[in-house]
Amino acid sequence: MKVVANKLPLDIETIRLDFPILKREVNGYPLVYLDNAATSQTPQQVIDVIVDYYSNYNANIHRGVHSLSQEATDKYETARKKIQQHFNVAKSHEIIFTSGTTHGINLVANGFAQELKKGDEVIVSALEHHSNIVPWQMLCEKTGAVLKVIPMNQEGELDMDAFHKLISTKTRIVFVNHVSNALGTVNPIEEIIEAAHKVDAAILVDGAQAAPHIKADLQALDVDFYVVSAHKMCGPTGVGMLYGKEKWLNKLPPYQGGGEMIATVSFEKTTYADLPHKFEAGTPNICGGIAFGAALDYMNTIGFENIATYEEQLLAYATEKLLEIEGARIYGTSKHKTAVLSFNIEGLHPYDIGTIVDKLGIAVRTGHHCAQPIMDFYKIPGTVRASFSFYNTFEEVDLFIAAVKKAKMMLQ
Ligand code: PLP
Repeated sequence: MKVVANKLPLDIETIRLDFPILKREVNGYPLVYLDNAATSQTPQQVIDVIVDYYSNYNANIHRGVHSLSQEATDKYETARKKIQQHFNVAKSHEIIFTSGTTHGINLVANGFAQELKKGDEVIVSALEHHSNIVPWQMLCEKTGAVLKVIPMNQEGELDMDAFHKLISTKTRIVFVNHVSNALGTVNPIEEIIEAAHKVDAAILVDGAQAAPHIKADLQALDVDFYVVSAHKMCGPTGVGMLYGKEKWLNKLPPYQGGGEMIATVSFEKTTYADLPHKFEAGTPNICGGIAFGAALDYMNTIGFENIATYEEQLLAYATEKLLEIEGARIYGTSKHKTAVLSFNIEGLHPYDIGTIVDKLGIAVRTGHHCAQPIMDFYKIPGTVRASFSFYNTFEEVDLFIAAVKKAKMMLQ
């Protein structure tokens, strides 16, 4: 099948002007940034919000009576409402600002210690990022709960028959990513959420890789917890959100103690603040939170349907071109995937390919992508991962393919 770009839903050349970094050169070549699954680039509209914060109203929030503090508080709380709206969440206090996906998962895993006893079961998937494995292993060690794993198949999809056999009334919580960072597979989270609720288990979905491509409706999904990082969706690093259903956030204990998260403190007894502050100890990433809201505004202006349609075409084109290279093998061949190409070229080490294409200005990721169990499954040390965003072009795909061909020629 020949992939021909259909009428594109986006004016990419105009969009690219929003991203100052895309104008730079690397090693004497125009930057081709294909490491979006690790961190996406930041548009000027979001950079301006960051500069405006530090230039005009940098102040601590919630506690101050002075105007700057109130201005910063208003903007921060407005950002929370933007996040609430974006993910269609019922109540703004169900949105907890975190430092990112890893923080959100650890917060829930830590709180879940009180929910588990020896012999209870928790289910994870074979497709997880280490962030969604290690905190639960630590929890199991602490509580005596047993970790069960949903296996994967050669296409990089979850074995759903095996999942339905694994889940039982012993299951207390299931945690699975919406989209795999290493392969791009979109997991059937609707089916997993329904099965978890049937046995009264809670479910946490790691939305870190879905959020840049899919606008999740969290009320429709009926998920208990959903976590994302702003830096993967045109926002800054060091900020993210944890969504939790009110009933769960009320039930779980605070993760950290400190200022902001208390109602009253005495040496005899401390009482905790209401949601969301109970989970937001200390001075938060105020500027980051506000910029996260601006990043959502930016992405919504472009439109998630447009993004999905465009990225689908880009992925189809890149897949076709890559497979023309002799010895290329793509890992993650599900029909349901986002714009990620994880691959190896027979006989070559992914690290060597990544190093050579970098010399030609092309940024890809190499290695295990914080998903060692997936690499073990395929019996490989790692892959080269090219991950696309809506600001990448078909011409960039051509440059990337030419660079991989050159690397192959040099290394063989
Ligand atoms: N989960 C997934 C699926 C990811 O892709 C990542 C980052 O790559 C994380 C969790 C961790 O995100 P962060 O490092 O922003 O906490």
